[in-house]
Amino acid sequence: MQGLMMQQPLLVASLLMHAERHHGEQEIVSRRVEGDIHRYRYRDLAQRARRMANALADLGIKPGERVGTLAWNGYRHMELYFAVSGSGSVLHTLNPRLHVDQLAYIIEHAEDRVVFFDLTFLPLIESVAPRVSSTKVFVAMTGRAHMPRDHGLAATLLCYEDLVEDHGDVFDWPLLDENSASSLCYTSGTTGNPKGVLYSHRSTLLHTYAAALPDSLNCSARDVILPVVPMFHVNAWGLPYIACMVGAKLVFPGPALDGKSLHELIENEQVTLSAGVPTVWQGLLAHVDTTMGSFSSMRRTIIGGAPCPTAMTATFQARHRVDVLHAWGMTELSPVGTVCSFKAHQVSLPMEERYALQAKQGRSVFGIDMKIVDMDGKELPWDGIATGDLFVRGHWATRDYFGNDDTPPLRNGWFPTGDVARIDPDGFMQITDRSKDVIKSGGEWISSTEIENIAYLHPEVTTAVCIAARHPKWDERPLLLIVKKPGGALVPDELLTFFDGRLARWWKPDAVVFVDSVPLGATGKVLKNRLRDQFGDYYLSA
Ligand code: ADP
Repeated sequence: MQGLMMQQPLLVASLLMHAERHHGEQEIVSRRVEGDIHRYRYRDLAQRARRMANALADLGIKPGERVGTLAWNGYRHMELYFAVSGSGSVLHTLNPRLHVDQLAYIIEHAEDRVVFFDLTFLPLIESVAPRVSSTKVFVAMTGRAHMPRDHGLAATLLCYEDLVEDHGDVFDWPLLDENSASSLCYTSGTTGNPKGVLYSHRSTLLHTYAAALPDSLNCSARDVILPVVPMFHVNAWGLPYIACMVGAKLVFPGPALDGKSLHELIENEQVTLSAGVPTVWQGLLAHVDTTMGSFSSMRRTIIGGAPCPTAMTATFQARHRVDVLHAWGMTELSPVGTVCSFKAHQVSLPMEERYALQAKQGRSVFGIDMKIVDMDGKELPWDGIATGDLFVRGHWATRDYFGNDDTPPLRNGWFPTGDVARIDPDGFMQITDRSKDVIKSGGEWISSTEIENIAYLHPEVTTAVCIAARHPKWDERPLLLIVKKPGGALVPDELLTFFDGRLARWWKPDAVVFVDSVPLGATGKVLKNRLRDQFGDYYLSA
């Protein structure tokens, strides 16, 4: 038919080509594993990615085959994002915080042909390598001068910079099918084996467009973006792709994720927008607090992966004039599903009401639809009260898992998130729990997330985790585990009284237990199942 649009496939390489042609002078700054700061521009990134694409072809990597990375956020990792996916193979980002058994399982399951790694992870690679048969070549992401001399690898070990230097920079990015796979990320699997989520070029590009929008992560060519969220976890929430699309300056923190290093980087590079999980921001805020520091350029921070406590939102906004964007997503969602940005009539609400709104995970980004259902699968109203299982569907939601013969997850075309939520009349969704973490007290559900949010408002609380503990009368009752601020004099009764008037009486935890620390999983989230193993019988033995 005449009079139609051009048909150009949506491809990851097109983001790089755009960045090179239209934002070639824009900077990418990385703190390296070697300790120094590295800077170059988008045109250097594009040129080196093409060299690496030639190197991958020389290594015999075929379209569709998987290439693993075990690396921090940095420019070499960014080059691989484009060299691997752009040339038609699949970028498989590996999470170094996983147990070595899980890593070996994932590499073998994905049949990674080559694994690239940052020097930090050489010991991990040495433990994993003998247990995987698919990977014959490992590449250390460093220059010749830093190549490990003594290593216990029986497989071939190559040097990243040698591969770049030894290959030419002429490479034509192939015109791939936009529905072919571009990258692969496994869910951390707190129970059972991890499952692989395979993103396509099309889903990645559509996610990039939508996540960059003003009411989503709100990114532009005037931004300096610091993704603290790792590139090994759901593609750093898509920020490497978004930065190319909008031409933003990128700042990569490498392995230095402590408060002091992050603050230094934010100030030196004049970061305007950062992104990470609440546990990382806790370290940053504690550092800024003790050094009486401030943020001279940062205006927004994206917080997700776990609920952002109101106390954190208030500290960022009221004390530091940094706006918090609370977002929700999952590996299966590429990851962005909802973002909490105000509608017009909410901007002028009183501050307390706006904070209450910001405790919610937000409204749907175009491209992802959502619904909540009851136990019989019946859709529940968006009244801000009814609570049910959250289902999603959309352009960048997974249909099934990579190489997995289990029953496919979708139900009538909707993906069950495993989260329990309510949705208000404005379409703002609020997670009340993971379905496995809900507290069922006398047949009614209590939200552990809301209890934690209130506990965080107490100035002497560093970490608050509420779990379901078995109870002789009510089946389950909330038990609050608290890590106190060092040197604090807080006692359990004082914290329990703090809940009075802030929460329905029967939602108030029956007891508070002080702990030194809480166990964190591979993506920085609290492992509630471990705490339940330890404290689940607290009320039975009390
Ligand atoms: P994992 O691999 O640890 O499951 P994901 O990033 O895929 O990592 O985890 C997704 C889950 O994280 C969601 O289903 C939800 O339970 C939780 N989550 C993500 N963002 C938020 C948020 N802003 N508030 C509450 N929970 C969140």
